[in-house]
Amino acid sequence: MLGKLTDWNDTIVALATPQGVGAIGVVRVSGLEAIHIVNSLFPSKDLVAQPSHTLHVGLLKQDKVAIDQVVVSLYKSPASYTGEDVVEISSHGSPFILEKIIAAIAAKGARLAKPGEFTQRAFLNGKLDLAQAEAVADLIISNTEASRKTALQNIRGGFSQVLKELRDQLLSFSALIELELDFSQEDVEFADRKQFYELIEKAKQITQDLLSSFSLGNVIKNGVSVAIIGKPNAGKSTLLNTLLNENRAIVSEIAGTTRDTIEEVLNIDGILFRLIDTAGIRHSKGDVIEDIGMSRAKQNAEQADIIIHLTDITSEDDDTIDWLDNFKDNVIEVANKFDSAWNDYINKKGNVVDLADGIYISAKENVGIDALKKILYEKVVDGTVNTESTIVTNARHYEALRLVNEAVEDILNGLNNNIPADLIALDIRRCLHYLGEITGEITNEDQLDYIFSKFCIGK
Ligand code: GDP
Repeated sequence: MLGKLTDWNDTIVALATPQGVGAIGVVRVSGLEAIHIVNSLFPSKDLVAQPSHTLHVGLLKQDKVAIDQVVVSLYKSPASYTGEDVVEISSHGSPFILEKIIAAIAAKGARLAKPGEFTQRAFLNGKLDLAQAEAVADLIISNTEASRKTALQNIRGGFSQVLKELRDQLLSFSALIELELDFSQEDVEFADRKQFYELIEKAKQITQDLLSSFSLGNVIKNGVSVAIIGKPNAGKSTLLNTLLNENRAIVSEIAGTTRDTIEEVLNIDGILFRLIDTAGIRHSKGDVIEDIGMSRAKQNAEQADIIIHLTDITSEDDDTIDWLDNFKDNVIEVANKFDSAWNDYINKKGNVVDLADGIYISAKENVGIDALKKILYEKVVDGTVNTESTIVTNARHYEALRLVNEAVEDILNGLNNNIPADLIALDIRRCLHYLGEITGEITNEDQLDYIFSKFCIGK
């Protein structure tokens, strides 16, 4: 039963704005006693008697001593974010004041909210389904246009709607098939097999489209890791600086990802490219022998989604790196120092190296850099990112969809081979089960606690 670990009858309080000094800070209170508690600290007006969705200015007082002049926003159940009575107190943004306000509210019987508990209550009260709730967390950490739009689309129920339609249709067929089982002696078919076949074909298409959207969804949400690999003096640091000068991204830490390497982040048309451990490569120059530099480079290549192999067209040395063959599909060949050595190069070698999947650039003179960015982008995005379409960005959803797809394939096989209705009914139930896991119709408390523990406190 829900409520085993967390008491949902408690009134909860938390800071909703970031820690630290700000112009204003917001404290959020939700639960049965939310309005009564704040009312007891707000002598200038009877908040209980005020209508929902109203703002009230006044002094917040504890034991007759004023803490701050605040604005109280009132949302009465069920018309609130959590579905419960919610009060938001906007005070001056001093951490000291905010802490005093939270302590005063806690002293009246509210407890501190757990991470994500406001959103978890919204889910439990049917304000959002689970996929929408998870999109709230994605929106909070979104740091590009693409991740913002995709998360917003999912909060508004884009993804949930597709799944809900599918589930509803499957449910109606499932009911008919179960009915056939009740009349199994009489050999009747209530569920029209042709219609059912069409529905399952459609379900297969939908799940496959959603599954294949995940590679893009993952790129939108988590970015793409890139390693710049090349012999010393190829121009790696120069290229890195040229790339970053124009497009260095502003990023916030993404929850749940470990960052044991230093990364510089580049934003190309809304997709984040993480240049892994480039500081390591930079510092290895000159004072670290080449072997160590190369084994470091190899580690970086192993971690990277994309490898830029940078070569120096002015160098007579062979700049082949044999182990790069292992990463062939991910390598972009880039020939550097195009500015100074074009004629030289042709004179020396007599012809131009054919770069199968790459380009000539001058990192120093900023030539060919836009073309390189285009190649990087096209390596991960097919066409443009259509954020209007439904894109799966969540690994949990992907895994459940994979299981839905397996069940759908089994139903299709069953229909093709005239398998008895009771076996088909089992596969339908399996399919409904995994669909329900995504939107949260079917879930357990541990799983919910795990999902919401990834949220920030106050959301
Ligand atoms: P790294 O060892 O691969 O990081 O190479 P650096 O970025 O430190 O560059 C090595 C040398 O090549 C420096 O003197 C750079 O100024 C020079 N260099 C880098 N890119 C270019 C380029 O596009 N054209 C020319 N002419 N020189 C370059």
